[in-house]
Amino acid sequence: MKVKCPKGCEPIEVEVHSFIRGDQEENLRDQILVGELNLIQCGECKTVYHAEATVVYLDPTADLLAFIFPASFEGEAEKWKEKMREDHEAMRSGLGEDMPAIEEPEAFFGLEAIRAELQKDDDLEDEAMVAEHVCKEVGLSVFKVARGFARRRGLPRIVPATKGDRFSRERALEGVAKLLEANDRLVSFKGWTTHFEGGGEVPPLLG
Ligand SMILES: [Zn+2]
Repeated sequence: MKVKCPKGCEPIEVEVHSFIRGDQEENLRDQILVGELNLIQCGECKTVYHAEATVVYLDPTADLLAFIFPASFEGEAEKWKEKMREDHEAMRSGLGEDMPAIEEPEAFFGLEAIRAELQKDDDLEDEAMVAEHVCKEVGLSVFKVARGFARRRGLPRIVPATKGDRFSRERALEGVAKLLEANDRLVSFKGWTTHFEGGGEVPPLLG
């Protein structure tokens, strides 16, 4: 694509990443996390800037299909979200069975927005992994939650519960309390307490 340096130098033709498989291209995911994706240096004045490109980021393992629009598009957010839904439909009919089942695409404006989302997801994932281990140690059941449901609410993708046959809010609340008693640094799990105490729906459980 053609990009133009913010200082107004001659436009140049550059290659940008416009589609990223987050679960397969770890180097590109890392580039987002350090803010270096589609970073261009102007040959003329040496200014470093991000190409104003729209990037589609797909990671079925995280239940994430992100349309990352340039930050400058945010003023017309609704228009771009509409375009996203159209493109998503087109992708679905084009790919058919090959299109991973993702609930809904999510729009981000600017690479900083997606960077923050991926960082948050990594932090949740770290806590979930520690929590799984702690649950084993203290004898709690672990229920796996649909990843997208959890991520969109800033919740970890597992819910601990005291032992029993099936999932219940009460046992989940007891489970979270026990987990936090054993390790009070797993702060993201407090979100489940808030969720269930606030009458939040029983999450879609896996397996
Ligand atoms: Zn320049």
